[in-house]
Amino acid sequence: MNAIEIVITLPFFPQSETRGDSWTRIIILGPPGSGKGTRAKIMGKLYDLPVVTTGDMLREAVSEGTELGKLAEGYMNRGELVRDDIVISIVEDRMSKPDVVKGFILDGFPRSVEQAEALDRILNRLGTALDVVLYITAEQETIIERLSLRRSCPKCGAIYHLKDMLPEREGICDECGGVLVQREDDKAKIIRHRLEVYEKQTFPILERYERVGKVRQMSGEIDIKEIPDEIRRVLGPP
Ligand SMILES: [Zn+2]
Repeated sequence: MNAIEIVITLPFFPQSETRGDSWTRIIILGPPGSGKGTRAKIMGKLYDLPVVTTGDMLREAVSEGTELGKLAEGYMNRGELVRDDIVISIVEDRMSKPDVVKGFILDGFPRSVEQAEALDRILNRLGTALDVVLYITAEQETIIERLSLRRSCPKCGAIYHLKDMLPEREGICDECGGVLVQREDDKAKIIRHRLEVYEKQTFPILERYERVGKVRQMSGEIDIKEIPDEIRRVLGPP
């Protein structure tokens, strides 16, 4: 079995019996191109929860000029991955802010079992815990098609799709007028590699949360119009 098949044959995680009163602390996991970001946004609106991404947390820390932000900025400027302990401390700061007291949808964190353990400790110190881990699944072909048709704006980061989300003017960003490009890592050969890396990183995290019955799966392939209903079905009413 090659690595990609594992995505598809991931064992079915049994659903918990009942939904708790307040399922508001949510992690969303899913391979690149699974539609994870889209779902996170829809869930945020549906349940009135902030969507917290690693990228945003890092950018906020940098723009606030905190000690951690300055440290992170050094790595980002060099094009390196920000050191794990710095990312974890930034997550800890973010989780202490008032807007996430009622809950959050965490996207892009944790990326490793170590980070997952750190998140548990952070939430535990805050007197709370994670409610649910939502895992978005999609076939490899779907992902390759989605990502290879993706175009992004290098100036403002906006994402377009040559089938589903065209810019008003061909090749030009609606937001800022920048010239859209295909990111190097959205090309098919590299996508396969990204998926393999993603699996290797993510399966141990899923296993860990599965042991405590927190994982639920959602298809990344349903029509965008049906996503809100699917979310309600899997997570329960807002
Ligand atoms: Zn732009």
